[in-house]
Amino acid sequence: MKTYTEPARSIPAKCFDVVVAGGGTAGVVAALAAARTGARTVLIEAKGYVGGTMLEGGTTLHSFFTLGKLFERESKQVVRGIAQEIIDRLVAVGGSTGHLTDAVNCDYDEHCTLIDVEKYKLVAAEMLEEAGVTVYFNTLVADADVTAGRLNGVVVQSRVEGRLYFKAAAFIDATGWGDLSAYAGAQYIEPEEYSVANSVGIGGIDVERYTQYLRDNNVLSGVTYGPRDGREGQIVRVGAPFHKVLSTLMAQHYKATGKPAAQEADSNRIPLDFQKKMAALAMTLGFTTMHDNYFMYLKLNQVMKKGLTSQAEMTKAELNLRRKQSEALKLLREYIPGCENAFIARSAPTLCTRRGRSVLCDYDIKNEDILAGRHFEDDIAYFGFHDCAPKMHVGGDGTYGIPLRAILVRDLDNLFAVGMMISTDYYAYMSTRNTVSCMAQGQAAGTLAALAALSGVPPRQVPFKDLRDKLTQDGVYLGENEPPRN
Ligand SMILES: Cc1cc2nc3c(=O)[nH]c(=O)nc-3n(C[C@H](O)[C@H](O)[C@H](O)COP(=O)(O)OP(=O)(O)OC[C@H]3O[C@@H](n4cnc5c(N)ncnc54)[C@H](O)[C@@H]3O)c2cc1C
Repeated sequence: MKTYTEPARSIPAKCFDVVVAGGGTAGVVAALAAARTGARTVLIEAKGYVGGTMLEGGTTLHSFFTLGKLFERESKQVVRGIAQEIIDRLVAVGGSTGHLTDAVNCDYDEHCTLIDVEKYKLVAAEMLEEAGVTVYFNTLVADADVTAGRLNGVVVQSRVEGRLYFKAAAFIDATGWGDLSAYAGAQYIEPEEYSVANSVGIGGIDVERYTQYLRDNNVLSGVTYGPRDGREGQIVRVGAPFHKVLSTLMAQHYKATGKPAAQEADSNRIPLDFQKKMAALAMTLGFTTMHDNYFMYLKLNQVMKKGLTSQAEMTKAELNLRRKQSEALKLLREYIPGCENAFIARSAPTLCTRRGRSVLCDYDIKNEDILAGRHFEDDIAYFGFHDCAPKMHVGGDGTYGIPLRAILVRDLDNLFAVGMMISTDYYAYMSTRNTVSCMAQGQAAGTLAALAALSGVPPRQVPFKDLRDKLTQDGVYLGENEPPRN
């Protein structure tokens, strides 16, 4: 038997103004913006909580600010609006450090904004409830109903209510992987290699001893102090080179002295054996934390050749990443002072992808736009961070604009794409994919989706001025309202 034909059947239908697919980094903000603008909004999330990769992959949120110190210029906060409100709400319950500045510069970004991921789950869900968003947890977007370039509705699979149809006027794909766009027939590019990760939270760590060990071995590249378990002035972020950088340092040392780094008493004495094993696991030594005796996260990366198209490869990657976690834990316990009692305190429910489908939109942000610090007539957000800094950074005054066209899915009337899926150019994506950029995109998409639905026209026909006015009224920085200095 090669195929099975599913019998046609009628399923319950529900009506909304705006459908947001995916309650992650961008989707939460999009749903809040749409509901607050007055649209009946439904948010569909596959898991039992919101937050997505922002909770499961990364460490510090990059970035509300432009890069400053490294380029000898003043840094400014350019992302505000709902993204900032989420931080404020978290700070109020001890769920975020707020925006900190490094004591010792951490690599390239002197700013550090940490969140307590468990507190985020509750705070964000409460904000959605307050805004009147209908949330479908444990529900998967499974198909799209499209006629002549217009989305009429989505088919979802709810664990509890089974298959449902949600009709709406405007739709936002915030699934990270671009699922809804693919179902709707949008054009997209599949990157050939998907770097996936399952970042693990490590408990039982003596943060101070661990940090001292890195310092003693010349591999500490930055330290940030802030609130940890309610006490100010504690170590909350430690920068340390990635495995590749470590090997480069070792090679440089060898070239300069003719001796392997591990044999040089004054230099890096981290056992060579550990360094080799660490490199094999693609493991990092830097971490952030908001709690005593805890690291968030130990990142373990793996490349999947056919991430989206091979179920077998995905299953293999899930297992491999768990093997790597166990190996990494053994290494920490065996080699690093302060980690003798380390244990895996949490892992993500599923692997996190760094890059899913790249969905083609009316405009494709290119790295040259970012390097030139380019702005557009239809900017919906300002952003100033590049993950490839210091090699690459945002030009001009340190900001570039994300134009509205970059989130309008090509050839589809009423579908937005937001989050990590918007840029096809790899180096541009290394900027646009970052959490704070995703949140900023979400606010614009949610606002415009609601304005369009409420006025009964497709998003492209809403006067841009109406969107811009609403965004600035809702606290978004678009170059006129002077941002606060850090
Ligand atoms: C390992 C790793 C480390 C990172 N480190 C950092 C960092 O330190 N700082 C930083 O700023 N950025 C970091 N990033 C990048 C950043 O976290 C992501 O690019 C960003 O969070 C993506 O946001 P998003 O809204 O596009 O997707 P997500 O936040 O992943 O949201 C997608 C949501 O959609 C849901 N979903 C998916 N498919 C469906 C479906 N069919 N139906 C229903 N729901 C669905 C998912 O469950 C998820 O909740 C990191 C990424 C990774 C993978």
